[in-house]
Amino acid sequence: MKNLKLAARDKTQRTVIDVDGIKIGQDLVVIAGPCSVETETQTIETAKAVKAAGANMMRGGAFKPRTSPYSFQGLGLSGLRILEKAKKETGLPIVTEVIDPRDVSWVAEFADVLQIGTRNMQNFALLKEVGRAGKPALLKRGMYSTLEEWLNCAEYILSEGNAGVILCERGIRTFERYTRNTLDLSAVPAIHELTHLPIVVDPTHSTGRISLIPTMSIAAVAAGADGLIIEVHNNPKEALCDADQALTPPMFADLMNQIRPLHQFMTTLPNNNLEPSKGE
Ligand code: PEP
Ligand code: MN
Repeated sequence: MKNLKLAARDKTQRTVIDVDGIKIGQDLVVIAGPCSVETETQTIETAKAVKAAGANMMRGGAFKPRTSPYSFQGLGLSGLRILEKAKKETGLPIVTEVIDPRDVSWVAEFADVLQIGTRNMQNFALLKEVGRAGKPALLKRGMYSTLEEWLNCAEYILSEGNAGVILCERGIRTFERYTRNTLDLSAVPAIHELTHLPIVVDPTHSTGRISLIPTMSIAAVAAGADGLIIEVHNNPKEALCDADQALTPPMFADLMNQIRPLHQFMTTLPNNNLEPSKGE
């Protein structure tokens, strides 16, 4: 991948991105929350529940890139204000999506991490703007994209001076229809071979099935993911977006009880894949 001047794995150290003391690329970082911000009660209740279960950061979309223009598009600025309140209540830093380059500078005032969604991975104007935003970016893999295309998009952000790029594997489109997408877990060790940037896994959008989320979360941690981003809703049946794939708070708490000891165990393995091997 010869065009990667900044993203390529030519450093012995992996990049660690510090968000309010949370070290992405070093500790296992769990980001959880609803697909979209719907109401203050829904967002704050969910934020408190994921915090109580041990999440490190909170997610929630105020701008939703929907397949249909007639579906709920998100609350915009009022959604960001609700996220701000949720952060005040819980202390959890906010990961939220930005979909329009014109919105980046003001969304960055609310976001601790700016999410770029799968449908916008190659929106180069957006990538450049996020590169200048002064906040870390969570760059989701395009659902039709190769690792090389994805890393070139990371390069767009890095080359504007933003060193805080977190990659997110969220599944790719294949012929399989049982799952919403196909989670490419081999991307996790492959990304660690190719770049020093951290990678988190989204077991929610990749599977689209609640029943598969715990197993694939465990598998992602075992594969060496630096974190997970998981949709949780205080009342999934009422969710305005992605209702079929949101965990309830108790389901999320059960999952956290499995993945923390697993990650702890992995740090004890010789030559575990959490650390780069020596001499590279
Ligand atoms: C999301 O995380 O809210 C989202 C829309 O995901 P994706 O871009 O991966 O579809
Ligand atoms: Mn969603």
